[in-house]
Amino acid sequence: MSDKKQKRNNRNMNNDDDFNPKFRKIRKKVCPLCADKNLVLDYKNADQLKKFINDKGKILPRRATGACAKHQRDITLAVKRARQIAVLPFTQE
Ligand SMILES: [Zn+2]
Repeated sequence: MSDKKQKRNNRNMNNDDDFNPKFRKIRKKVCPLCADKNLVLDYKNADQLKKFINDKGKILPRRATGACAKHQRDITLAVKRARQIAVLPFTQE
């Protein structure tokens, strides 16, 4: 048996007995910016933008932020602006 296969089997063993990805509950993520109309992205607000970057300082993908396409673009722009004015780091060592 290859290492890869064994790893997968181990992972499955740790999970619930009736785990089946086909029937996994899918929770639809709601865009945080669409949900709260009053929330406006501000590139000077580091605390607000920190929610959209990981510990390395990278911008989180849409599947992680849950943002819609329009707002993900806004987030990206805001984070990139914040980096330029040194509000957010480009990388974290
Ligand atoms: Zn949105």
